[in-house]
Amino acid sequence: MDVQRPIRIERLDPSRLRIVWGDGFTATIPLDVLRQHCPCAYCKGEHVFGTTVMLPLQQFSPGMNELVALEPVGNYAVRARWADGHDTGIYPWQLLRQIAEMVARDDTSLAR
Ligand SMILES: [Zn+2]
Repeated sequence: MDVQRPIRIERLDPSRLRIVWGDGFTATIPLDVLRQHCPCAYCKGEHVFGTTVMLPLQQFSPGMNELVALEPVGNYAVRARWADGHDTGIYPWQLLRQIAEMVARDDTSLAR
């Protein structure tokens, strides 16, 4: 399967990332949304991707939505390091793209 990969990931401000893909698609992803979709087994719990209402299965901890670093994993993903010490979430390009498209849709539906 041919997966689009980001050509640029930049920190827009302390709470948002801007990601540009090879096909020109650009999205601004709030870090709390990125954290909500942490794909690691610990966070994933029972949440179903794509639902708009998610029960807070994770307890809030200081710094949990604060991104310390994004580190490349091979050439297929990035690992997110959060300020609360959580670093087991590895986001494949495909997941980043899904999150970005979901955020873009939400933006559109909220726009007047
Ligand atoms: Zn996680």
